[in-house]
Amino acid sequence: MSSLEEVAEEIRLCRLCPLWRSRTNTVPGEGRRDAEVMVVGEGPGEEEDAQGRPFVGRSGRLLTEALEKAGLRREEVFITNVVKCRPPDNREPLPEERETCVSTYLYRQMAAVKPRMVILLGSVAVQTLLGKPSVSSVRGKAFEKDDVVYFCTYHPAAALYNPANKTTFFKDIEKAKQLLESLKAFKKQKTLDDA
Ligand code: SF4
Repeated sequence: MSSLEEVAEEIRLCRLCPLWRSRTNTVPGEGRRDAEVMVVGEGPGEEEDAQGRPFVGRSGRLLTEALEKAGLRREEVFITNVVKCRPPDNREPLPEERETCVSTYLYRQMAAVKPRMVILLGSVAVQTLLGKPSVSSVRGKAFEKDDVVYFCTYHPAAALYNPANKTTFFKDIEKAKQLLESLKAFKKQKTLDDA
């Protein structure tokens, strides 16, 4: 199994899909290597591309605020995206670009971190990881797949300019945290029962 550093180094040199042409820096992701929670967005924006770090612009500040309000410090989670290179003109990554990047890198990052929960931000993440048509059909819901619990909510960019979406987004992140605590309590109880 690859380490997060090995995956990040491969990403740095990657030209597997056309998005390498529009990047300044690759954005592999950052956070705790043994995080209980992974957060997966769509792809790097302008500031993320410039800095090589995920969610550092306005959307990122909103995400950090929502996580902290729910009791999750940003440094405690691992934050990344479906694609690791910025699409030109901030367009959505194409299905083949998403598939290439997720199958080559994101699944290996997940195997390295082994999160209890993956929070999916927005339709691109929900479509790519769960095959759902859009985030609106699954927002606020959790799904278990391959022993990982996926929780779906808006991308923070959708919450930036819409107060109703922002309220919902903050509530969803709190709900995800509560679900995480329930999962941990259930696992602890099961361990005690099995002992
Ligand atoms: S988006 Fe992913 S697959 Fe495409 S070039 Fe960048 S790292 Fe490689």
